[in-house]
Amino acid sequence: MERAVKMRSRHVFKSFGATPVLRDVSAEVRDGEIVALIGPSGAGKSTFLRCVNNLEVIDSGRIEVDGELVGYREAGGFLEPLPEREASRQRARIGMVFQHFNLFRHMTALQNVAYGPRQVLGTPKAEAARQAAELLERMGLAGREHHYPRQLSGGQQQRVAIARALAMDPSMILLDEPTSALDPELRVEVAGVIRDLAGQRCTMLMATHDIPLVEDIADRVVFMVDGGVVEQGPAERVLTSPEHERTRAFLARMS
Ligand code: ADP
Ligand code: MG
Repeated sequence: MERAVKMRSRHVFKSFGATPVLRDVSAEVRDGEIVALIGPSGAGKSTFLRCVNNLEVIDSGRIEVDGELVGYREAGGFLEPLPEREASRQRARIGMVFQHFNLFRHMTALQNVAYGPRQVLGTPKAEAARQAAELLERMGLAGREHHYPRQLSGGQQQRVAIARALAMDPSMILLDEPTSALDPELRVEVAGVIRDLAGQRCTMLMATHDIPLVEDIADRVVFMVDGGVVEQGPAERVLTSPEHERTRAFLARMS
């Protein structure tokens, strides 16, 4: 059975000033799929993830999540940018994990995780705290609930960030180089958590340079260079017999 499409982008273009950063990006993520976004620095991976999460507004093309247009609405045959209230409602349905964790520094681990459910979903305080503690435990962080980010290692902070994303019960999770800022030994623990999520078929679109992790968990791979998709397909095919010389050269450099 074909899985339902979670995210679909069609002919997405985005420039910053006169600099084109996304050129005709079409890709999709299906329900329960793990899709890896790979490519050299500056390829536009982060920008694309930010567009999917409506943190950047695209110039043309369209992105849909769960069949709903992201960032725009149709009005009298035209598209107009969504009002901020609607835009933040869309953002709340997608979990995002950043390279540099982006935790609230003045909040404990538990408060970081409980914040979204309390503020955005209106979950009562005790219930939000209970769910947060459970998620932190699932991330291997039992006993760290009341630590502030500065009292946690990078790997622990990133696991709090993943718990925070999951707390919103998101439709899908976007991860932007979640292990890149970490030392090798901390990378392993964060990769372990990501592997667990993949095992639970949590829908993910992840930009990463961690090719072994991609080999392990990705169903499909999208390879980008200079704002464009060079090739995409089943992970095994793209990784073992890429069609394009640029993909081959990139993978050779990464191994
Ligand atoms: P990647 O994540 O693949 O390394 P990015 O999406 O971060 O690529 O960046 C793609 C290009 O867009 C780069 O050339 C970068 O300098 C540029 N860029 C990204 N964000 C901005 C911004 N806010 N303003 C101007 N240029 C940007
Ligand atoms: Mg990036």
